[in-house]
Amino acid sequence: MDIVVLGGGVIGLTLASLLEKQTEHNITVVSPNQQEAARYSALTYASKNIFTYLGIWEAVLNSDVGMYHKMHLYDANTQAAIDIDAHEFGAAELGHIVNNKMLSEVLYRRLQDTRVNFVDGFATELAHGAQKSKFLVNDQMLSADLLLGADGSNSWLRKSLDIPSYNYSYQHHALVATVELHTKHYNTAKQIFYPAGPLAFLPLSAPNTCSIVWSTNPEHAKTLMQMTEEEFAAEINVAALHSKRFCFPLNMRHVTQYVGSNWALLGDAAHVIHPLAGQGMNLGLLDAATLAEKLQNASLNNLYNSLRAYERARKGYNWGMIGLMEFCKRTFGSKNKGFNTVRSVGMRALNKFMPAKNLISKIGMGVYGELPLSARGYL
Ligand SMILES: Cc1cc2nc3c(=O)[nH]c(=O)nc-3n(C[C@H](O)[C@H](O)[C@H](O)COP(=O)(O)OP(=O)(O)OC[C@H]3O[C@@H](n4cnc5c(N)ncnc54)[C@H](O)[C@@H]3O)c2cc1C
Repeated sequence: MDIVVLGGGVIGLTLASLLEKQTEHNITVVSPNQQEAARYSALTYASKNIFTYLGIWEAVLNSDVGMYHKMHLYDANTQAAIDIDAHEFGAAELGHIVNNKMLSEVLYRRLQDTRVNFVDGFATELAHGAQKSKFLVNDQMLSADLLLGADGSNSWLRKSLDIPSYNYSYQHHALVATVELHTKHYNTAKQIFYPAGPLAFLPLSAPNTCSIVWSTNPEHAKTLMQMTEEEFAAEINVAALHSKRFCFPLNMRHVTQYVGSNWALLGDAAHVIHPLAGQGMNLGLLDAATLAEKLQNASLNNLYNSLRAYERARKGYNWGMIGLMEFCKRTFGSKNKGFNTVRSVGMRALNKFMPAKNLISKIGMGVYGELPLSARGYL
């Protein structure tokens, strides 16, 4: 079968690597060779397992990677906190912080000298057929038995096929930067919940450097972007700013349909969620691992069944995470004093209740629910 993966971001390249390892299909990746802005992502234990399975975890670790084994969730309104320590659950860490661009480069290197072909450019002009689909890349006509759209939140494939989606604005912009702290981070990821939105500190490899994600209302984000570097560093109480600031409007999107007879969507092309729990890329990686697994024994005769099995495994799971993000955003964004007191009491109680903390850490580590084999960590 001729498979075309659209999009050479982390999700598209991971999918191509898994298909290359797990199937016999012909694989082409179509994507422009673009440089990503300096962004970092928190990777779960399940995602680490996928990269270990692909044999590239050592190479990922040799790039600019931070590790965190503690998590401190702090409610700035009521001073209540929840502390989670991986060691309490017998785990070595809760997750890693990786640079998106470096991760893409490691994946790209893995695919060199394999049977995966690369075509550099944007796919355009889709002629979708019941059997083969055709499209243009730089005036060159390409065709595929199966089109897999990992082409990001503005997915060309989703738009070309006119796939409807649920979507709304979170009324938040995310400000991203790298900062130097006054003290060491001690491999602790911190999330401070302000009424306007959460500020996350993600520990990087240098002992006093963090990547920050500050999700806040658009007016506040604009003010933060206009501050001088010194004013901004003082505002978040850090020693210095180490990078440019980037700002992204945040929207929720979830497609109503992940698959058709000869296409599928995954990663941000299928769902975009609030970054407050650092789960968007991790969900996309589980999509990729599940889809590759379901395509292992797929042929042109049973393709739709395999694609539907992927959709059944992932859609409800991703809805669950979208709901959880909404719950967190509303819970910490409430201006109701009575509700805030209840939240504070709830957080303090939860902090002493190990089974609940265990559940939170399992969700945070991506090790709950039905996982594809490559994400389970014992292959
Ligand atoms: C502020 C912020 C912080 C985040 N932090 C985290 C985090 O800590 N942890 C986490 O798990 N997630 C996080 N996320 C989410 C994560 O960044 C995304 O889920 C992830 O990068 C999506 O990857 P992707 O490969 O699906 O899409 P993208 O990275 O957008 O890649 C899409 C690719 O498709 C290509 N493309 C586009 N159009 C076409 C076309 N027509 N033809 C061919 N190719 C095309 C693009 O060039 C690109 O290479 C965060 C998001 C934001 C906004």
